[in-house]
Amino acid sequence: MTDIKAMTLEEITQSCRQMGQPAFRGKQIFSWLHKGVRSFDEMSNLPLALREKLAAEFTITVPRVARKQVSQLDGTIKYLWELADGNCIETVLMAYHHGNTVCISSQVGCRMGCTFCASTLAGKVRNLRASEMVDQVLFTQLDSGREISNIVLMGIGEPLDNMDEVLRFLELINHPDGMHIGMRHISLSTCGVVPGIRRLAELELQLTLSVSLHAPDSETRSRIMPVNRAYDVEELFAACHDYFRKTGRRISFEYAMIDGVNDHDWQADLLSSRIAGMPGHVNLIPLNNVVESPFRPSKRTAAFQKRLESHGVTATVRRSLGGDIDASCGQLRRKAMEEGANLQQ
Ligand code: SAH
Repeated sequence: MTDIKAMTLEEITQSCRQMGQPAFRGKQIFSWLHKGVRSFDEMSNLPLALREKLAAEFTITVPRVARKQVSQLDGTIKYLWELADGNCIETVLMAYHHGNTVCISSQVGCRMGCTFCASTLAGKVRNLRASEMVDQVLFTQLDSGREISNIVLMGIGEPLDNMDEVLRFLELINHPDGMHIGMRHISLSTCGVVPGIRRLAELELQLTLSVSLHAPDSETRSRIMPVNRAYDVEELFAACHDYFRKTGRRISFEYAMIDGVNDHDWQADLLSSRIAGMPGHVNLIPLNNVVESPFRPSKRTAAFQKRLESHGVTATVRRSLGGDIDASCGQLRRKAMEEGANLQQ
């Protein structure tokens, strides 16, 4: 059976033609799917015979809420969704002044191995399909009753390690007959998969690229992020500068402040000199404590920020949301895995 929500409008229309249906059926089906129908029976403007035919050939993905945690502090909601094959993924809904932002996962687990991150501790299980990424946005909106205006691909997984499905997801979620979320309202975060950044640059999408840098020198970065051994800081910055030249879009650099590891003044100086020549923005993140990790949050965040600013680099400190609900970096899925709640692993 084919996963119909992973199909583009053109692909669905093509299938309709093959079934001897008029082309406009494609658009009807596509828009029903992206409204969140759970079965073909709900597609009330389709003839019964067609609905039955579709049901025999295609499936509609519908994730189940395995857990839902609502922060008492700021209304952040964290979902643990169970997928059709029993795997679980996390999605976080955050309320900001500029609207509701949903943080979605791109893989079940992650194989990038960053030493401070809970998402990668048990490795990667599989890639998510485009439909499963759409579902995180769609069903979070439906379940919460809050309209989603922004998406960040910053949940579990490395988006550029699942690039074909991520690009398909972007096409689906951006489509005027679907959820129609503008590219300028979407951020994609990568740990620094250089070939992916270069491929993305060629597409000249209007989304915001975030690079999880966490250290400006290769020695430190290789220690905390294995990806740096494949694509080091110099290569990464070369790709970032090229990306900016090609797209004209400012890159955001994520930088989790780790005590005694990446919070020295000389690292702020080196970071500034690497960014020089493009309008980069540094987002300093208070490190979230992960029990399994040896790292602790830095106390030098304000000083580091000042040092960057003294070089003319804009730097902000990320506000922490959902501190009371394990809302960060794969912690809920991990907790559920330990407790064996509906998980295959
Ligand atoms: N794989 C992508 C997206 C998922 S991680 C990436 O690496 O960018 C989302 C962000 O959370 C990344 O910037 C990641 O480095 C950061 N992160 C992971 N664990 C963290 C922790 N314990 N504290 C703070 N940030 C963390």
